[in-house]
Amino acid sequence: MQEKNEMRLEFDSRSCNEGFARVAVAAFLTQLNPTLEEVADVKTALSEAVTNCIVHGYEGTVEKIQIACTIEGSIIEIRVIDHGCGIEDVKKAMEPLFTTKPEEERAGMGFAFMEAFMDEVVVESARGAGTTVIMKKKIENPAGKFAM
Ligand code: ATP
Ligand code: MG
Repeated sequence: MQEKNEMRLEFDSRSCNEGFARVAVAAFLTQLNPTLEEVADVKTALSEAVTNCIVHGYEGTVEKIQIACTIEGSIIEIRVIDHGCGIEDVKKAMEPLFTTKPEEERAGMGFAFMEAFMDEVVVESARGAGTTVIMKKKIENPAGKFAM
């Protein structure tokens, strides 16, 4: 059986914490010896997911965002979790250019970026209960203890 390596983060839904979350996940990923491009891809996808929790999930109120990361073999799985308003229609929300905040000059491209930069994006959401975004990416030439 393959060994797993897990880490968890919890932080306030303030936009000043977005950079912290991005760097923390990138640092955790380093053990797989990713390319700079792979790191940039993960950071971009993570930023989009965290920003969505802040601006949509909690609509600017300060609550907790959780990130759960697992490395197994050459694959990193990142879960970004909020307990905010949830998404009415996930399929529709994931369509490129769909946004519920056009007045705030949102482009509706966050999920499209996550899907472009990660290998798999799954969204679990319930109205009033919150949203979990599960993203996976395979690191092509991994190294390290957990990358057998
Ligand atoms: P952009 O990311 O380009 O600034 P956006 O955030 O509106 O614009 P997406 O990130 O693709 O676009 O998200 C699409 C829609 O899905 C959002 O407008 C919002 O209605 C909904 N959504 C996304 N994430 C969440 C979340 N965590 N909680 C509640 N609603 C969400
Ligand atoms: Mg977005």
